[in-house]
Amino acid sequence: MHRQDVIAQNGKPGKGLGAPEISGHTPMMQQYLSIKAKYTDTLLFYRMGDFYELFYDDAERASRLLDITLTTRGQSAGTPIKMAGVPFHSVDQYLAKLVKLGQSVAICEQIGDPNTSKGPVERQVIRVITPGTLVDAGLLDERQDLPIAAIVLHQDKIGLAWISFASGAFRVHETTRTRLYSELERLKPAELLFPESVQGDAVLGTLSAHKALADWKFDQERGHRTLCEQFGTLDLTGFGAQGLSLALGAAGALLDYCKGTQTQSLAHVRSVIVEQDNQYVRLDAQTRRNLEISETLRGESSPTLLSLFDSCATTMGSRTLRRWLHHPVRDRSELHARLDAVSELVSGARGPGRGPLARHLSQCADVERIATRIALKSARPRELASLRETLRILPELRLELEACQSLKLTALRKTLQGESAALSLLVCALKTEPGVVVREGGVIADGFDTELDELRAIQNDCGAFLLDLETRERSRSGIPNLKVEYNRVHGFYIEVNRSQTDAVPEDYRRRQTLKHAERYITPELKSFEDKALSAQDRALAREKLLYDGLLDALAPHIAWLQHVALAIAELDVLGCFAERALSLDFARPEFSELDEIVIEAGRHPVVEREIDDFVANDVRLGHRRKLLLITGPNMGGKSTFMRQIAIIALLAHCGSFVPARRALLGPIDAIFTRIGASDDLAGGRSTFMVEMTEAAEILHNATARSLVLMDEVGRGTSTFDGLALAWSIAVHLVEKNRALSLFATHYFELIQLATLYDDTANVHVHAVEHKDRIVFLHSVQEGPANQSYGIQVAQLAGIPASAIRAAKRKLTELEARNAAASVQGDLFTQPPSAPATSPVETLLESIDPDTLSPRAALDALYNLKLSAQR
Ligand code: ADP
Repeated sequence: MHRQDVIAQNGKPGKGLGAPEISGHTPMMQQYLSIKAKYTDTLLFYRMGDFYELFYDDAERASRLLDITLTTRGQSAGTPIKMAGVPFHSVDQYLAKLVKLGQSVAICEQIGDPNTSKGPVERQVIRVITPGTLVDAGLLDERQDLPIAAIVLHQDKIGLAWISFASGAFRVHETTRTRLYSELERLKPAELLFPESVQGDAVLGTLSAHKALADWKFDQERGHRTLCEQFGTLDLTGFGAQGLSLALGAAGALLDYCKGTQTQSLAHVRSVIVEQDNQYVRLDAQTRRNLEISETLRGESSPTLLSLFDSCATTMGSRTLRRWLHHPVRDRSELHARLDAVSELVSGARGPGRGPLARHLSQCADVERIATRIALKSARPRELASLRETLRILPELRLELEACQSLKLTALRKTLQGESAALSLLVCALKTEPGVVVREGGVIADGFDTELDELRAIQNDCGAFLLDLETRERSRSGIPNLKVEYNRVHGFYIEVNRSQTDAVPEDYRRRQTLKHAERYITPELKSFEDKALSAQDRALAREKLLYDGLLDALAPHIAWLQHVALAIAELDVLGCFAERALSLDFARPEFSELDEIVIEAGRHPVVEREIDDFVANDVRLGHRRKLLLITGPNMGGKSTFMRQIAIIALLAHCGSFVPARRALLGPIDAIFTRIGASDDLAGGRSTFMVEMTEAAEILHNATARSLVLMDEVGRGTSTFDGLALAWSIAVHLVEKNRALSLFATHYFELIQLATLYDDTANVHVHAVEHKDRIVFLHSVQEGPANQSYGIQVAQLAGIPASAIRAAKRKLTELEARNAAASVQGDLFTQPPSAPATSPVETLLESIDPDTLSPRAALDALYNLKLSAQR
């Protein structure tokens, strides 16, 4: 247990832990310890002058994490105080490092007046910085929202709530417990809160910043009350959240926690959106990874779908694009609305770069995050200035959309109206180029406030007064080179050369002696100094007050600003879709009501950028073609072909044009993938176990409206096992799930499924042998492949010639011995035969003609006929 934990429980530190009785400490350390007791799991940055200091265990931890010096500072209660510190002006870089490491930091400021306070200056924690509740521009990733989430688990259900804190978007969702992992993968929270009682859950443990809170904080009724208070409503019917249970508990705990970190109410969290299970095309965790939506399989950010698509002009657009790509929608009317808008922008676009629309957008500030900082009273002057310039651009954006007919663009144009009130506030109150921080002044515009103007006038008149005084003093003293000057340290003074000091008038009082000169002050200059300096202090205080007033005056506009931000972001993404469609030669997808996917000349948008001659391919899935068995050599293009179909389906459901000549898609509820092999060593699962777990998930969940991609299932075990499993999984998909499935395999036995099941067809990636070498043609053709070319591919890969020769000899020998099943290479040179007995064979085996009654014989005959037809 930490020393601080002991303080928290007893009100005094425990013995033997380096800091005994709190009363035995110096007054300052008493203050420190009593504040620290409330922030036991959090590093406490304790402000002392120009530094934030950390003490005891915090100091040790911070010095390790931040690589800063650990020292000691005197003694308190008989023990040296371990201490480490960071300068306040560069605190952001240290905070950024700590939150990246999943740490939280409580910022404790001096709030009392050091001149008047007896004992230590009064201090208070003004904010707690945690990985999920960042709002400062310097700490946030501009192009990504990292939400903070809370979760409640009960029996087979989970309730989730999450807030993208920097934008205020608040969502809740309830679903089955089996989806826990995929939901966390979808949300990727920077911080996750959950009740203490589920602390041991393995999935939750995999997240870096997870925090267990007392169970009672997740109480549903409490959550309901907290939400009603937050939104100022009597109930949650207006948000469609009334029927929720677990999610309300999560939402309440989440809001409370977030409020605690800001030590103020959250004016930017204004509503809650309830997500439904069937709202999005479901993508499980491995599908997100396999399709390389925003991260490559190696964990890099490029080349991915997002990196290919992100030509957004604003950071808000980039964040929305990321969200859209990870949340393909199923609602057809929304999809048509997005596609109509993209079509309109495509036909209206003048050349690449989206013309004036993109130009205007690129001048827009991050309105979404600035609105949040206005709500939390932390917006900086220059952010408000950039907000003002953005509001000035709105009329031009509207003008660009003037001729648009599509519902979406017309609606967006309407949302981008109404800037005049907020704009005139900013124009009147803020200087054209305000200073960086309010405490240094130069922020509030001249003419906005009479008192400030007067105080500034006193400072401005300074120059004229000093010149006048200098002339007068020169003539009064008869010292021609006497100077009246000012510096920050010594204030105002009259400087006289040492050789002339005898001539100074009586009322001169010495202020400072230099080598060659004396500096004096007179009663007149002193009274001017008092006035000028106090005018400066008062002006700064006045500016601070006026600035706070400006933030207050902007508060009623936050909801409007949030809508504007969403509209700019959406417009940006739609513009980006249009630009990409034009630059990359994409076509508008079509939708149908049948369970089908028909693609003509489809391409993989990322792979085609990486290589010179990409071969476009068709695919037809649907009636009588539910399962396509894809055969052909390694490197032939099977995975690329499968992935491109999934990507086309995904993009179409984001409202984007797609890389194909034509794409027709039925309703799709989910995309499942089982591709590639990797050990999950951390999770203690072998490649084969991972593969089977993923396959099981698919067989349990895929429906007739799901798109399923299976690549090389069954490779991680013996040939017969693998083949039998691949066979049975394919049969399950076609018989039970009836999903639209692409099944790439090396087991040639499987190609005969096409003769056994009407809904199954064979296609292959074409390759030919040329002068003993294999040439991949990458075109997908009907029917099964006739060879695997395994040895040729191995030759290409650089297996030594002697080994290749040996392999060829072995293959001939194996074929000769008809040892079909011992290696994959010769499996398909044999006439295909089912590894598992077919239904007809099973039936025939079960019949003993000698014992059958005429009636049973007739039944058996019917059954046989039925099985044969299937
Ligand atoms: P497989 O899954 O059959 O082993 P991949 O899909 O991984 O093959 O493709 C192997 C390589 O072939 C890819 O990295 C790519 O360079 C190339 N390729 C794949 N599909 C195509 C295509 N349609 N046109 C051109 N090259 C392709």
